[in-house]
Amino acid sequence: MRTTSTLLTIASLLLAGGCASVSEDATRSPKRVEVAIADRRQFDSFESLIPIPPDSVLTLYSQLSPEEFHQRYRPLVDFVTFLVDSFNTTVDNRHTIDTVFINHAVADFAEAGQAGRTLYISSSYFFLFNDTRILRSVLTHEFGHIRFRMLDSASALHMSALWERLRETALFYLFRDGEYSGNARFGGHPEENPAELYASAYNLVRNRPEELRVRFRYADSAHLPLLTQIFDLASR
Ligand SMILES: [Zn+2]
Repeated sequence: MRTTSTLLTIASLLLAGGCASVSEDATRSPKRVEVAIADRRQFDSFESLIPIPPDSVLTLYSQLSPEEFHQRYRPLVDFVTFLVDSFNTTVDNRHTIDTVFINHAVADFAEAGQAGRTLYISSSYFFLFNDTRILRSVLTHEFGHIRFRMLDSASALHMSALWERLRETALFYLFRDGEYSGNARFGGHPEENPAELYASAYNLVRNRPEELRVRFRYADSAHLPLLTQIFDLASR
């Protein structure tokens, strides 16, 4: 059992903080206009997947300083650190996360990931959804990546073989986290590689096990042994 508590680091805001809006900034600096247009275009692919209009996202980024962000979302930030500490008790010492880095850069909208012992999460997850279920899903997926790296070589090979069979049977859609209730719609890319499949399955078997099993029932029953093997491997 570990005792290290999770530290919280605040990334600097890419856009001007405080009361500066994107348009005010743009009139002052032509370079800023280019960045703002690129930022806006970045949201085009998310438009149907997020609960607020892309322009409102940019406004939030420009208006919320990291300090205001932390004031407004303190309970969610506390929830994240609590959850990370709790997940840390399920992994060995070499794989624990000791820093959660909340990233306020527009360019990292909807991103989450890890490097070393730091877990990065975009501030957009907080202000787009303001929902513990979404954060639980994102963090469980990220710890799924850690658990994948902890698999012994036989289990990792087995997972790769299962990923190949899932590809041949065109069943990746069953493991897309974002298509399950209460999750961020843009979450989950199991078709990318075995690690992504494992992370998505790890998330779903812990947070949406019944929904996942129900969807298995609608697939061809000949595939049920394959789906069950993935479920079982991700449950460990
Ligand atoms: Zn992932």
